Amino acid sequence: MSMNGAVVQANDLTRTYGVGETAVHALQGVSLDIPQGDLTAIMGPSGSGKSTLMHILAGLDKPTAGEVAIAGTPITRLGDSDLTKLRREHIGFVFQFFNLLPMLTAEENVLLPLSIAGEKPDAAFFETLLDNVGLADRRTHRPSELSGGQQQRVAIARALVSRPTVLFADEPTGNLDSTTGHEILVLMRDSVDSYGQTTVMVTHEARAAAIADRILFLADGQIVRDLPGATQHEVLKTLEEIAAA
Ligand code: ADP
Repeated sequence: MSMNGAVVQANDLTRTYGVGETAVHALQGVSLDIPQGDLTAIMGPSGSGKSTLMHILAGLDKPTAGEVAIAGTPITRLGDSDLTKLRREHIGFVFQFFNLLPMLTAEENVLLPLSIAGEKPDAAFFETLLDNVGLADRRTHRPSELSGGQQQRVAIARALVSRPTVLFADEPTGNLDSTTGHEILVLMRDSVDSYGQTTVMVTHEARAAAIADRILFLADGQIVRDLPGATQHEVLKTLEEIAAA
């Protein structure tokens, strides 16, 4: 953790795709601090730079300029093996399309990050985790035998099993119907409230952003608003104001 309690810090990030006249300036000077124990939503219209920002914060992509620190360690100049180690220790990631391995059971998918690292879970913690995500009676099912919501629960448990410093979720409800999406949002909110899981979620859905403690709005690669939580209605109103600006 850094001196000010931020577990993720970004300083003046830029990211340019391509060169010359056709270059796309996806991020144009983004700085932020993500405090421990907060659920932060990153919101904004399509093409505003949300995915680019999240991938850079999670060490999946490098900025053109600027620096990211995770748990106080600057990551942009780390070599591949140090970065892999840091990500394994500090970062969990949940994707829109679940990204489970089809030949593994739910339980094996959840345990995969630990298996790769040659570690075993704390048994009590593992059982509580499976219970909390509602998978205790689905552990031997393969992804094809699970609903979309259940698959996303497996993906969330997989991201939480190593007790990451920060959980990144990229449109976690984007591929789910609204009832199932709501259940997943409740689960994410609960992991923040029950064990202080620092979470950063990219979404373009107002109802998803409304569960956050803080909402950062991106437009054209810049943070244009920073709200300390908001209702769904306020989120929609802010998006309209940004579009009109
Ligand atoms: P969002 O997640 O908010 O929809 P993105 O971060 O995906 O926004 O994209 C931001 C901008 O960067 C867009 O103009 C997009 O077309 C562009 N972009 C994203 N990825 C690439 C890429 N790999 N190559 C070229 N342009 C890209």
